[in-house]
Amino acid sequence: MTMRTYEYFACPNGHQGEEKTSENDQPYSKSWEKVSTKGMRDGPNGAYVCTVCGLPMSRVPKPLS
Ligand SMILES: [Zn+2]
Repeated sequence: MTMRTYEYFACPNGHQGEEKTSENDQPYSKSWEKVSTKGMRDGPNGAYVCTVCGLPMSRVPKPLS
């Protein structure tokens, strides 16, 4: 079974980003973790930066939908 965790981010200009972590939690198989992002990329210091304007992203609460 695969577990997915979402984290939401936004830059100071209001662009939104999303980080998805996929995790295999099966007890008898090798565990793995895969992280993919949308709207942002890895920047310096291990922080995410906006792909649109290049400003640092900060974590935001899950948006209402
Ligand atoms: Zn931005």
